[in-house]
Amino acid sequence: MTDVIIIGAGPAGLSAAIYVQRAGKHAVCLEALTVGGQIVNTPEIENYPGIKKTSGFEFSMGLYEQATELGAEVIYEKAVRIASAGEISAENIPELSDIQGEDPGKIFIVETESGKKMAARAVIIATGAKNRHLGIDREEELIGKGVSYCATCDGAFFKGKDVAVNGGGNTALEDALFLTNYCNKVYIIHRREGFRGEPKNLEAVKKKDNIEFVLNSTVVGLKGEKSLEAVITKDKNTEELREIPVSGLFIAIGQEPDNAAFGNVAELDGAGYVNADESCNTKTPGIFVAGDCRTKQVRQLTTAASDGAVAALAACAYIG
Ligand code: NAP
Repeated sequence: MTDVIIIGAGPAGLSAAIYVQRAGKHAVCLEALTVGGQIVNTPEIENYPGIKKTSGFEFSMGLYEQATELGAEVIYEKAVRIASAGEISAENIPELSDIQGEDPGKIFIVETESGKKMAARAVIIATGAKNRHLGIDREEELIGKGVSYCATCDGAFFKGKDVAVNGGGNTALEDALFLTNYCNKVYIIHRREGFRGEPKNLEAVKKKDNIEFVLNSTVVGLKGEKSLEAVITKDKNTEELREIPVSGLFIAIGQEPDNAAFGNVAELDGAGYVNADESCNTKTPGIFVAGDCRTKQVRQLTTAASDGAVAALAACAYIG
């Protein structure tokens, strides 16, 4: 049995793993996709104290190596349920043979999408957040065929082409700047006049002569047979529709949590984030939460890492 199962190997989860290992306990991180989470796609990090400049990939690999060299394990499985050992019969499940005779009220079983069951004395939910989708017709069908949620991953496929970025936050502005390196023209489609992204990013975008702003507008349609050929925008004020020929649409309209599977052990707020106290305790003793997936004001790399430390120390104190 593991001391602490950490669901998610992003900055919060891996920071938690480092602290669990250094507290003399064993941590297993379950990761559904990529180590590093969302930050792995960020080209430049300039706001992590003590590191003047690095890339998201380099930062993620550093975290991964630090955690695993301390003895943490990372297993590529998607966690789909947390149950107490009392709810699941450990009989006939070989991987749970070592919990026989233990107090089932003090053990959690984490089930994965592939059907694995793993036991732990404490669990930290560090699932981060996933890219928000527009929810318009053909969006899902055109993913990988012009529709993307990651400019740094897919930008190079659009060399010399016209593309659009949707959103008005730092991600959208940085994506647009990044895409100007490859693309002929970049449209920034944003639903308001004002931008949520930092003035420094907005100034940099305004200096580019191959960026056109399409403001007060939303993307309402996608055209193209086998791949994206144009986006249809709607002006919020005039209701006018405009067809913009592009072969790429980079959707950067923020993130949303993916915690619905854990609503049985943790209280979720209206938007699906996990409610917790200052020590990252959820409503269930032994279940903790760290990083972007919890209710909070500021979601940054630094706050994810600090949550990881707090949740890990709380989990280790709980185990005793
Ligand atoms: P964000 O700051 O939440 O911005 C999302 C943008 O998408 C907003 O402009 C929002 O419009 C728009 N939007 C939301 N839902 C929409 C919808 N359904 N249709 C159309 N537009 C929609 O998200 P983000 O840019 O991904 O950034 C997330 C966090 O990471 C932020 O704290 C950000 O500062 C941080 N970040 C930091 C860096 C950096 O420091 N280098 C880089 C990237 C991200 P409204 O403004 O009208 O709400």
